[in-house]
Amino acid sequence: MPTQLKHYIGGQSIEGYSGRTGDVFNPATGNVTAQVPFASREEVDRAVVAARDAFQSWSQVPAVRRARVMFSFLRLLERDLKKIAAVITAEHGKTIPDAEGEVQRGIEVVEFACGIPAMLKGEFSDNVGAGIDTHSLRQPLGVVAGITPFNFPAMVPMWMFPIAIACGNTFVLKPSERDPSASMILAELLREAGLPTGVFNVVHGDKDAVEAILAHREVAAISSVGSTAVAEHIFKTASAHGKRVQALGGAKNHMVVMPDADITDAVDAMIGAAYGAAGERMAVSVVVAVGDAVADAIVERLSPRVRALKIGPGTQAGVEMGPLVTAQHQARVRGYIDLGVDEGAKLVVDGREVRVPGHERGFFMGGTLFDRVQSSMRIYKEEIFGPVLAIVRVPSFEAAVDLVDKHEYGNGAAIFTRDGGAAREFALRVKIGMVGVNVPIPVPMAFHAFGGWKRSLFGDRNIYGTEGVQFYTRLKTVTSRWPQARAGEGAQFDFPRNRG
Ligand code: NAD
Repeated sequence: MPTQLKHYIGGQSIEGYSGRTGDVFNPATGNVTAQVPFASREEVDRAVVAARDAFQSWSQVPAVRRARVMFSFLRLLERDLKKIAAVITAEHGKTIPDAEGEVQRGIEVVEFACGIPAMLKGEFSDNVGAGIDTHSLRQPLGVVAGITPFNFPAMVPMWMFPIAIACGNTFVLKPSERDPSASMILAELLREAGLPTGVFNVVHGDKDAVEAILAHREVAAISSVGSTAVAEHIFKTASAHGKRVQALGGAKNHMVVMPDADITDAVDAMIGAAYGAAGERMAVSVVVAVGDAVADAIVERLSPRVRALKIGPGTQAGVEMGPLVTAQHQARVRGYIDLGVDEGAKLVVDGREVRVPGHERGFFMGGTLFDRVQSSMRIYKEEIFGPVLAIVRVPSFEAAVDLVDKHEYGNGAAIFTRDGGAAREFALRVKIGMVGVNVPIPVPMAFHAFGGWKRSLFGDRNIYGTEGVQFYTRLKTVTSRWPQARAGEGAQFDFPRNRG
């Protein structure tokens, strides 16, 4: 019998009552393992009201004590890392070591949030005018909501709520309906860490729940991560409702390989970056080979390795690539491979017919490699989000930069080269938010910040790091003068300024 999942509202597990639910699968077996409730507007309202009521007191808790809750949460995450990873693998399909890596990257944001008192320090200027001092402080916004995608069910929520909560906000998380269970463990651990009731809430659901969050007058800000169409919709709708929004969207990450690159290193980097997590992450999905000799060398060395990828359930030791998240997504990725063939790209390795013995109903797909992909093709332009790598051949560095810049997405791009000058120029010139130099997936650490350019991010602030602190707080500047400093000055009608 599938488990019936519940919302987590005001410190309690609450059964869904909208009458709408969704199936959660184990992608390695194809079995339905759980049913997730889809929240109605009323259920979303209940979570937001719980968060609003909790805000009054949580925002008054000294930052040092809020940080202590984060320190406790950190210890519990370390204790339960393997348990969380197992739940991720069971619903998402990625391998256990990959799931553990995801939790670890989330933990790093919690470590960052433990230092919140130092980050909330304001500025102070004494004697800005005679006897007048000015100081600034950052105050929390109120109820903030997170809307998160399926591909990192623990890490992406943890990009958001540790910083939001440490800043004094309260939080409503709407996790992906495909793999919602990890968020329930996070809720339990926060409770165990001593977080007061109502500060963190989870409402499950689909787009109806999202619409209710976007329109709710008590929600002050939204952080969302998902596909570009959804990100743009969230940005426009929430902005129109007067909310602060950061909405991260899709990607098509390019890896430029220069003629002087170490091809062995580049191919090692490519195989993991393109096919790890079955491409359902910030993957390298386009290799830009500068010159035919580079492209030929890559195809020669990469194709046998793509054919040899160890594909199987994420729980099995030694497996390199697990299944895709759902049968629907598997069909979509397969459709793109069919399309690439129709569009005239050269299919070097075809992953469509891969079967995993004993797991015939799982949503598996083999690694796929296309060569001679053109920038006019849909398999180049659109995000596939599967284990499909496209090689585009260009004649020069200039043409490579031009290609990267013209793509509508601007999340990540990498250059592989031994030439420091070329690397520097690439990093400075490309219209991309996160750049790697001989690093294929340039995901910044928690004390930096994550965000793309162009249609990969809607809003002004990147996620986590000090950008996160600024997003989840607003600045207040106080100018003060004590009575004795005003003595005998009388009324003043002109605009205050320093005279003389
Ligand atoms: P998705 O856009 O389908 O869903 C994201 C969230 O939005 C989910 O919580 C979902 O319930 C909700 N949602 C879905 N359709 C909606 C709609 N029509 N209206 C309102 N809300 C809706 O994304 P996904 O398939 O879960 O995740 C994969 C996508 O996320 C990929 O495009 C990937 O590039 C992107 N992603 C981006 C980053 C990044 O950092 N930029 C990181 C992870 C994933």
